[in-house]
Amino acid sequence: MNNKVVTFTSNQAGYEKWWRENRDVFIVSTCENPESFDGEFVKLHRHCCWTIDPTRTNPKNKTLTNPYPKVCSDSKEALLAHFRRMIGDPNGIFYECKLCSTKGK
Ligand SMILES: [Zn+2]
Repeated sequence: MNNKVVTFTSNQAGYEKWWRENRDVFIVSTCENPESFDGEFVKLHRHCCWTIDPTRTNPKNKTLTNPYPKVCSDSKEALLAHFRRMIGDPNGIFYECKLCSTKGK
C-alpha cells in the first residue's frame, strides 16, 4: 500500500492502464464539480465492480472518466482525505457502492 491518490479526468487510456496494473484497490467515481454535489453522487467502488470496469463498453460516451472522473487509490483513508479536501468539508463522506461493497475487503 502506498496511499497514493491518482485522478483520471477525460483519460480513459490512463484509467484503463492503472486499473489493469492495480488489483486490490478502491476507485471513487466522482463528478466534475464535487463541491456542488452531496456525497450521494460520489461512490466508493472496489476494483472488482463491473460499473467502473474500463474495459466495459459504454455505448453512451465510451469513456468512464468523463463526465465522472475517477479518483483511485489503494487506501480508503487516503481517498477519503483527498475527497474532503476536494469538497472543502473535513467531515464529508462518500457512499459505498452497494454492488461491490460486500465483495473483497
Ligand atoms: Zn461498485
